[in-house]
Amino acid sequence: MKLRTVSLTIALSAMLIASCSSPEQKQEFRWTVDRFADIKVMRYQVPGFTDLSLRQKKLVYFLSQAALCGRDILFAQNGAYNLAIRKTLDGIVASGKIDQATPEWAAFMTYTKQVWFANGIYHHYGNDKFVPGFSETWFRAAVATCDPGLLPVRPGTSVDALLAEICPVMFDPAILPKKISQDVSTDMVQNSAVTFYRGVTENEATAFYAGKKDRTDPAPPSYGLNTTLVKENGRIVEKEWKADGVYGPAIREIITWLTRASTVAENDHQRRTIDTLIAYYTSGDLRDFDAYNILWLQDTSSSVDFVNGFIETYNDPLGIKASWESIVNFKDVAATRRAETITANAQWFEDNSLVDPRFKKKEVRGVSAKVITVAQLGGDCYPTTPIGINLPNADWIRAAHGSKSVTLENITYAYDQAARGDGFNEEFCNSPEDVRLLEQYGSLVDNLHTDLHECVGHASGQLMPGVGVDALKNYHATIEEARADLFALYYLMDPRLVELGLLPSQDAARAGYIEQILNGIFTQLKRIEPGKNIEEAHMRNRQLIARWCFEKGKAETVIAQEQRDGKTYFRITDFSRLRALFGALLKEVQRIKSEGDYEGAKALVETYGVKVDPVLHHELLARYKKLNLAPYGGFMNPVFTPVEQNGEITDIRVTFPEDFVGQMMEYGKKYSFLSPWD
Ligand code: ZN
Repeated sequence: MKLRTVSLTIALSAMLIASCSSPEQKQEFRWTVDRFADIKVMRYQVPGFTDLSLRQKKLVYFLSQAALCGRDILFAQNGAYNLAIRKTLDGIVASGKIDQATPEWAAFMTYTKQVWFANGIYHHYGNDKFVPGFSETWFRAAVATCDPGLLPVRPGTSVDALLAEICPVMFDPAILPKKISQDVSTDMVQNSAVTFYRGVTENEATAFYAGKKDRTDPAPPSYGLNTTLVKENGRIVEKEWKADGVYGPAIREIITWLTRASTVAENDHQRRTIDTLIAYYTSGDLRDFDAYNILWLQDTSSSVDFVNGFIETYNDPLGIKASWESIVNFKDVAATRRAETITANAQWFEDNSLVDPRFKKKEVRGVSAKVITVAQLGGDCYPTTPIGINLPNADWIRAAHGSKSVTLENITYAYDQAARGDGFNEEFCNSPEDVRLLEQYGSLVDNLHTDLHECVGHASGQLMPGVGVDALKNYHATIEEARADLFALYYLMDPRLVELGLLPSQDAARAGYIEQILNGIFTQLKRIEPGKNIEEAHMRNRQLIARWCFEKGKAETVIAQEQRDGKTYFRITDFSRLRALFGALLKEVQRIKSEGDYEGAKALVETYGVKVDPVLHHELLARYKKLNLAPYGGFMNPVFTPVEQNGEITDIRVTFPEDFVGQMMEYGKKYSFLSPWD
């Protein structure tokens, strides 16, 4: 599972206590390096890399290479024509014979960057096919300037044949219009461009996998996770993704680098973990994958860690087949200590909330979370990346062995740094003092809020006997997220946090409250289209909390709604009263959950969490639009380069390129292992 931030403008930016680099460096480092369409491309730093041992650095380097080798797999999964189109676009960029001072060239580069960024011709978030801003005639002329050797011509055919295949897909909006169809009234499998199923209907696919389910198996493999389902001579068969199967050439490259990584593993357990992953890539056997996952989640002592494989199923309309992804990282020791401090105090937090004692856990075990520094992103984690990960996904493994939860701190830090000075806080905060608080403490309290939410919030509380976990039905997710958020908010302003060294001052906590209210009541609406309700559980929860506190605090004006120069602002007049309101709502939300009070959940969510104030919404969208911010963002990777002496690696250097086009062209050259025509 992944926690992703959809919008860049998290509205927060601040100094982080565990900061990465010297002040001089910080000023020079360009966080945002490119901007096109609705996209902003940023960079992240890798603080602490130079402090790793040579062995660890080598491990990061080898795993990073393995992370890049799967790039083509994701392109191929995201659409049947993606590789052919990308390689053609790469060829045009490399050709160097086209007049670049024309609007067509500018539109071409925008389209090309969109394709690179989305790992295919569909928007990474909206799933719609990109519309080229240049004509087919211009495109055909551009292709004609290319050395045919630069183009992915199908063996034995011509450039014309290539164009005949890709042009309709690129230019006809009616052909393969969506990456993933979620319209349940149609055949979602046949209407999705993803290539997990070929010639198979939704009903056939569903029936195929229903037949595989064995309810008596205590350790059921994730059937279908790593295969293409194909109809061959009227029979439905699975084609495995493995070293000598589908995507074989890329998988074999991944194995080569994993094999080198295995030789510099930090310990025997980690070596076995890597070797088991290699065994799985070789066999395609999902029981090997589960064995690998169990070893992986049990490895909590290694500093360097990674994800590499077919992991998340968000891109399959049926949620069965996994997209390829990779993340390489190492432990952020200081920040992990912060999460551990919270977990170690889990019982204190449980005992001291305003929740009815009947609904409290007598013995609460916090979830221990690890904070990591990302060193490399690949596949479906690049360039758009999660900020938190909780794996593995298999339910039986989670139940029997637990899971590993990580926060990607240098990524959130980069988001915050890149958002600095973009005018968002200045536009929406009530006062320059609020802006200052957010700049100074925003990122710190954001991370702390996440830790409290994940490590103790979700883990707290207990259900009354006989109450099922599904009692709240469609309101479950919103209530559950509200519970975890309120737990975090209530304790953010507790003096205990300062005592534990988790917060420098109560000022920092105030920044957290300002952000929560402003975002929950107002600025998060930027993601909602005019006239629409709030659907997503986290967003519903945030509005629920802010609106409830606004209403309940109205008599004493705990939160003041004010107008200046035709603009609306929200001002918190009394922080300790607001804290008490958070505590009171936590008490009520925990009661609803513990008693399984469906009607109570419904009333709370529907009254405060769903509907949007149309006037406020209209104002927000107008003000937000004026800021001209990119709603989506992603990251370029740092580059690791081995330093060699007499054939031995003596060091690994890290550099941070700024040229997105350069990185994409290099990846296209160095990590292109799949034929577009397989
Ligand atoms: Zn949560």
